[in-house]
Amino acid sequence: MNESTAPEVVKSEEEWKAQLGEERYRILRQAGTERPFSGSLLDVRDDGMYVCGACGAPLFEADSKFESHCGWPSFTHPEQQQNVRLLDDHSHGMHRTEVRCKRCDSHLGHVFDDGPGPEGTRYCINSLSLDFRKKAEP
Ligand SMILES: [Zn+2]
Repeated sequence: MNESTAPEVVKSEEEWKAQLGEERYRILRQAGTERPFSGSLLDVRDDGMYVCGACGAPLFEADSKFESHCGWPSFTHPEQQQNVRLLDDHSHGMHRTEVRCKRCDSHLGHVFDDGPGPEGTRYCINSLSLDFRKKAEP
């Protein structure tokens, strides 16, 4: 890891575990995957912002969320490309692209190239990796 990609938020594994709890720690810090169709954010349609479940960085706008039927919250693109980090992932005998939060280097999910938007990308993200901040009523 060179300096330009070094995360801004750095904590020990013990600190993360205490902050996140067992389940979220497994997803965010050990690149786990929640069971499909189990996530609490899957059917959220409200306007707002999806932020990193570990550090609170804004990651995906509600506008970019779409129904992908894949079992995880899906987005056409991140709110800002610079807020996420993409890595080659060769685990489980597949070649996929892992998505991490740039700020704290926590695992979010994977990105695939079959999205419906002009970008052609589908960000398939664990509910447990995100918190939803609903837009305040005017
Ligand atoms: Zn983060």
